[in-house]
Amino acid sequence: MSIRPSEFPPPWSTSDAIAPPTDPVDERIEVGFLIVGAGPAGLAAAIRLGQLMEEDPATAERLGEVPVAVLEKGKAPGAHLLSGAVVNPRGLQRLFKGRKRIDEMPFYGEVHGESVLFLTKHRAVRIPTPPTMINHRNYVASLSRLGRWLAEEAEELGVTILPETSGERLLVDGGRVVGVRTGDRGRGRRGEELGNFEPGSDIAARVTILAEGTQGHLTGAAFERFGLRGENPQVWALGVKEVWKVAKPLDHVIHTMGWPLRPAKKFREFGGSFIYPMGDDMVTIGMVVGLDYRDTELSVHDLLQELKTHPRVKRILDGGERVQWGAKTIPEGGFVALPSRFHAPGLLLCGDGVGLVNVPALKGIHYAVESGRLAAEAAWRTLARGASMRLALASYDGSLRESFIWRDLREVRNMRQAFGRGFYVGGALAGAMTASKGRFPPGDAPTERDADQSLISTDRAGSYPAADGKLVFDKLSSVFASGNRTRDDQPNHIRIQEKVPRELAELWAHMCPAQVYEVGEADGDGTVTVKLAPSNCVQCGAITAKGGRLTPPEGGSGPEYTVT
Ligand SMILES: Cc1cc2nc3c(=O)[nH]c(=O)nc-3n(C[C@H](O)[C@H](O)[C@H](O)COP(=O)(O)OP(=O)(O)OC[C@H]3O[C@@H](n4cnc5c(N)ncnc54)[C@H](O)[C@@H]3O)c2cc1C
Ligand code: SF4
Repeated sequence: MSIRPSEFPPPWSTSDAIAPPTDPVDERIEVGFLIVGAGPAGLAAAIRLGQLMEEDPATAERLGEVPVAVLEKGKAPGAHLLSGAVVNPRGLQRLFKGRKRIDEMPFYGEVHGESVLFLTKHRAVRIPTPPTMINHRNYVASLSRLGRWLAEEAEELGVTILPETSGERLLVDGGRVVGVRTGDRGRGRRGEELGNFEPGSDIAARVTILAEGTQGHLTGAAFERFGLRGENPQVWALGVKEVWKVAKPLDHVIHTMGWPLRPAKKFREFGGSFIYPMGDDMVTIGMVVGLDYRDTELSVHDLLQELKTHPRVKRILDGGERVQWGAKTIPEGGFVALPSRFHAPGLLLCGDGVGLVNVPALKGIHYAVESGRLAAEAAWRTLARGASMRLALASYDGSLRESFIWRDLREVRNMRQAFGRGFYVGGALAGAMTASKGRFPPGDAPTERDADQSLISTDRAGSYPAADGKLVFDKLSSVFASGNRTRDDQPNHIRIQEKVPRELAELWAHMCPAQVYEVGEADGDGTVTVKLAPSNCVQCGAITAKGGRLTPPEGGSGPEYTVT
């Protein structure tokens, strides 16, 4: 009998992430607007609010002593940001219109050339670049570095950024979001208070903007609480990437398809790789695979290691040295998986949290920035004399639907779903969709949840190369290269059923790029006990897609990315 991860739901419920305020009114921290997440969406919202405060100081006065605050769970802004990243500058140009030029932003340079390669185990065939993958006039960045720069810009405009602070519960009172409760710090493995214990706080805000990115903890709870889910479920891909110092500069961006993924429909292995130059002496290389795959032995981390052994890829890295590693999920459901609304009373949602990603182009940064900017403008509209809070927040949905984000995503609306039919059929359908600008095939293709795919095992792990510490790395040395220094004795933040069929335990152990899960002893009743090492976790979010639940650990935990 085949197993589906969704048959073993995690011990977690929405009510764990939603609560009324508990601090006495005079002990609550009051801010004007509260943004959760210092990624491109949250920081764009913060910057736009800062610009509006500068343009209209009299209105800004009404926001109190802390007009705009941003919570970030990473050690510093940028610490949890990971992307390709080739950036379409459109969102940033609109955000900084008349204030900053592209050449003042921290990019590694403009894309001057590109190639798309179809790989077999030993060969690479150049194929015509699909229109969605044309990158002329885009710029290469490290999102972590771009995030640090955006955070500095926001602070210069009077925004308060609170790093090492996770938003743990959405505060809902009388059917309206009134702020966020931050997580406790200094608890031990069993939840006991240690000597350095600091309780979390209720932060009360006029409007809360959730910009948590992929697999947002509060965002997911808000979807359930306010009935925001769209018609189709969201699906995700897992991206694992490395940054290398290299001996020879790479002068163009490369995308690959094919090997080491298998094309047959039954495997559901959709994805590819990217290799981008970062100036003259660095490159980034990453592998992205849809989490609707079925094989219990598939490991995106190991597929990336295998990819690097391909003669065409190895040549780029020869004589080089790995400097950083990281992993993160990407929402891939596209247009048909967007929520039914992007606001609720007291709340706005933007960026990857609501699935604003163009999957065939592998791009979401410009949508994150644009949606953050539009959310900020809607929040600001609540301050107009005689404004209705409800109508002002609802106006955000209208602005999104009129934006370039909506037009772009509609054109590629069934692209990801097509690849559930295998690489060749999916590729042909994707070509037809591109040529007809999304009009063919008519209608919306249904999406199946990643956790609903039944599991198979095919001895896939047999092909993964052994680590040599030079070109090929194991998971633990990779976690080290993410800068992760999470305290070992904090409470476990991963929610899974710990006694599960062996197939599911194997799936989690292979899937997790950070070696958090280990298949333990057989329990004698057909199940095994999964052992956990939560401090390895780099918070990629894959477990939430495949039957478990990632919750935010103590603020400041997790990776400390600087160039991813
Ligand atoms: C491997 C990979 C390659 C990609 N390549 C590209 C590319 O080349 N070009 C492109 O345009 N896009 C690319 N993307 C997509 C792009 O990175 C995202 O669309 C974009 O980062 C989304 O921005 P965001 O602000 O919504 O979320 P994020 O960038 O994920 O930022 C969210 C922030 O919120 C913080 N946070 C989350 N929850 C909480 C909480 N509860 N409390 C406090 N803080 C919290 C996180 O720590 C993080 O800093 C890629 C993504 C991946 C994973
Ligand atoms: S434990 Fe889950 S969220 Fe953490 S790195 Fe592993 S798969 Fe990702």
